[in-house]
Amino acid sequence: MGKPKSSKQKLCILLVFVLLVGLIIFSANVYHIYASDSNRADSQPSPTPELDILTTPEPTPEPTPIPTPEPTPEPILIEANQTDIPITINGEPVTLLKYEIEDIVYVNLFELASALVGTDGQFFPRWDESNETIHIESNSSSTTGESDLTQIITTETLTLPIEIYILLDESPVQISAFTIEGDVYFSLNETLEVLDLIIVRDESEDSIDIYTSQTIANIITRRKSLDPSLPMVALTFDDGPHTLTEQVLDILEEHNAVATFYVLGNRVEKNSDLILRTFNMGNEIGNHSWSHPWLDRTSSDRIRRQLRDTNDAIEAVTGVAPTSMRPPYGSSNSNVRNVSRELGLAVVFWSIDPSDYLNKSPDRIFNDIMNSVTDRDIILLHDIHERTINATRRLVPALIEKGYQLVTVSELMELSEITLEPGRNFYHARG
Ligand code: ZN
Repeated sequence: MGKPKSSKQKLCILLVFVLLVGLIIFSANVYHIYASDSNRADSQPSPTPELDILTTPEPTPEPTPIPTPEPTPEPILIEANQTDIPITINGEPVTLLKYEIEDIVYVNLFELASALVGTDGQFFPRWDESNETIHIESNSSSTTGESDLTQIITTETLTLPIEIYILLDESPVQISAFTIEGDVYFSLNETLEVLDLIIVRDESEDSIDIYTSQTIANIITRRKSLDPSLPMVALTFDDGPHTLTEQVLDILEEHNAVATFYVLGNRVEKNSDLILRTFNMGNEIGNHSWSHPWLDRTSSDRIRRQLRDTNDAIEAVTGVAPTSMRPPYGSSNSNVRNVSRELGLAVVFWSIDPSDYLNKSPDRIFNDIMNSVTDRDIILLHDIHERTINATRRLVPALIEKGYQLVTVSELMELSEITLEPGRNFYHARG
């Protein structure tokens, strides 16, 4: 039996209904908010803290890094001893004040420069007080270097090793140096390397020989271009140096060729310029005795004097002692061989003799050689006859045209893998 609901009951039902509807709407709203949030998060990443910093303008510029102060190096005491080691430049002895520090020789740049005056390795260092730099100008190459001397710390005697930078073609080259009693001493080896000079210090270290670049460059360039597998001959010129020798050198130079000159010792000193030019071109200087005697009719003592004095005269000019001798008139015997062995000289004869000492025409001298020449020959000539010079003028280009490389006696043997043994006879390089 249904009893009609009272108005109080109706009110309660309505209230519950309103509450329910309210709850449903609230729930729907809450869900919607969450959905929106998750959608936003997917499509639009929230800005990262980094981005915030990037977009924020820098409030202050990046602070300049404070330079870490150079630690003042503790002075190291290094022993610098003045050394008496002889130095030669292109064979000429020079006087330089030099120190040896830990087995390296240091010289004064300005003294070295004045020692090089007159050579093709000449250079001119200039001290620029205002900029504390050394400017180096060279006449041999386009070397224009600058070395920063600001790092030099001068003390009473010796400071720390200092490092000098010399700018060559815009690239800095480092040179070791010391300040000794106020003067800067540069490592000799490194300085010469930078200045394109060649230093030769022999194993026993009893001398230092400096060669200017031109001399060595000629020889090195030639050696590189020689091919041991191709034909070659050695021209030899005896009895000079003579006024005609210049013409032989001109011919050789014109054709980029070299020869061996067996010179008389008694003519060497008074023709030292000619000897030096001959040597500097890459030619070989050999020993032809002091005064051209018949050595096979001479005592061993006199043979020794004849050969030794000539060796000494040549070495005094070129800085290099000969490694071979040629007996005058081709006259030799066991005494000549023994003394030659003693003095480090091979005995070099010839395989072609066009007899240019006879009164022959240049054409006959030329033809005699060209008709008989073969690979690895040694050709005998004398640079004291006009006819020989005239023959040589045709001969050098003709031999080159025929495919012969013109080499020195030493090169001929070396490229033929034959040891130029002192005291032994050699006639050609055909093994
Ligand atoms: Zn001779």
